[in-house]
Amino acid sequence: MSLCAILCPASSRLPRRSAAMPTSSPTFVGAIDQGTTSSRFLIFNRRGEVVALHQLEFKQIYPNPGWHEHDPEELISSVERCVDGAVQQFEAQGHSRGQIAAVGITNQRETTVVWDKTTGKALHNAIVWTDTRARDLVRRLKARIGAGELTQRCGLPLSTYPSASKLLWLLDNVPDVKDAYERGNLAFGTVDAWLAYKLNGGPARDVYVSDPTNASRTMFMNLHTLDYDAELLEWFRIDRDKVKLPKIVRSADPDAYGSLAGTVLRGTKIMGCLGDQSAALVGQKGFTPGLAKNTYGTGCFLLYNVGHKPVISSHGLLSTVAFDFGEGRTMYALEGSIAVAGSSVKFLVDNFGFIDESSKLSALAETVEDNGGCTFVTAFSGLFAPYWIDDARGTIFGITAYTQRGHIARATLEATCFQTKAILDSMGKDSGQKLTELAVDGGMCNADLIMQTQSDIIGIPVSRPAMRETTALGAAIAAGFAAGVWESFDDLKDVNNEGKTLFRPQITAEDASERFARWEKAVQMSKGWSS
Ligand code: ADP
Repeated sequence: MSLCAILCPASSRLPRRSAAMPTSSPTFVGAIDQGTTSSRFLIFNRRGEVVALHQLEFKQIYPNPGWHEHDPEELISSVERCVDGAVQQFEAQGHSRGQIAAVGITNQRETTVVWDKTTGKALHNAIVWTDTRARDLVRRLKARIGAGELTQRCGLPLSTYPSASKLLWLLDNVPDVKDAYERGNLAFGTVDAWLAYKLNGGPARDVYVSDPTNASRTMFMNLHTLDYDAELLEWFRIDRDKVKLPKIVRSADPDAYGSLAGTVLRGTKIMGCLGDQSAALVGQKGFTPGLAKNTYGTGCFLLYNVGHKPVISSHGLLSTVAFDFGEGRTMYALEGSIAVAGSSVKFLVDNFGFIDESSKLSALAETVEDNGGCTFVTAFSGLFAPYWIDDARGTIFGITAYTQRGHIARATLEATCFQTKAILDSMGKDSGQKLTELAVDGGMCNADLIMQTQSDIIGIPVSRPAMRETTALGAAIAAGFAAGVWESFDDLKDVNNEGKTLFRPQITAEDASERFARWEKAVQMSKGWSS
């Protein structure tokens, strides 16, 4: 079947072109990109080019070691300010806001928000995906009968990472949350649900939805039915009469997500929603099985399209929804998640003061020839895929009197590249196939040295697009499909192809495997630090 046939079968459930959309004038799509460290709003034209962008960082809150929070109201206000800022730029170019056909949302995943359904007020700071406060709770859950069978249903292993453990922690530790639960007023959501709810105006309109790529990160959704699973909820002892869960709707939908109630785009419909890593896969046009992308942001996430059926990993990977664009167009992915990537670079900036901004990491690393025998296991919040070691902590091995900052800089950037290699090895075992090229994006991929190191370590070419806002592009594509801006994957074939950079391996396979063996040894030695 052709790609177009996959995307365009006649079906009443297909997203439809909005009647109000102008067809003669140039059409644009907006994308809200609510990430871990910043919010952005981008406006794309039909060729997938960015015509306007406004970005704002927001406060990172670390109340205790291992804890990481965001102010839910600041997430909303930063997004709204970004919309206003980007539209101002857009109009300064002579366009009009009415040319924006729809808006898509992409967001940090797993981060958990709880609010009172009657007032629309958040009951606690958002607990961020990196947060490990639920470690003891997870340890207890792992001892419960049936713990080993959860992954078959929801695709994720028990850890502090998915939203489930964060919600349980809030219920156990925050009286206001428990109280709202007992009164049946508690609303729970990942950031997409919170954004859609608040951007629509909160309780007045009560748009309370999430898409499967986000819902699949909670541990409450059944990966096969794409709906909440009564047995999973029961296992977690969540009473559905007491906590409200957002309705799971398609990633591209002309009606389900409502419209913006505020900002200069008031009235513009929200028509797409994808968790950030799924959005990046879509933005890289990873529509067909066998395609993969790796996004080097705060964390690093490799998604590999496995087709219409989920593949449950036997080698430490997650199974997740890649995107759900309607009947016959639901795709699944195997995912390798690395908790710490760009955040290790920020750590060298903020905590060690080695450099004054992340973009100078490469220059520091280039002051030396190699890592000087140092290996840095950047396990600030344990190690995620494929190791899943909760009690590992950041550990630098091999320091001598010879060690310079440059060696630590190299060891830092190599940590992400080695974890990517470990994930690719697991993917090869789970899928029976070896990737031939890796598409990359995210902040850290700006550094040529990092991408060259990555190619050296995995032994295949690394392909970097010129336009790196692929996460936002993915959200725009979801919304654009629902709005009829693009009607098939084929319509996107020329989008973001020009100016790609290819990094090819420059070291021998023996050299690469020796370096990787040292990394694996260091991983084993980093265990057990936080117990
Ligand atoms: P997110 O969407 O998770 O907020 P981004 O994709 O914006 O993340 O990437 C930001 C991260 O990338 C930061 O942690 C920063 O340290 C890192 N980063 C950005 N530019 C560079 C660079 N040139 N070299 C190394 N790291 C970088």
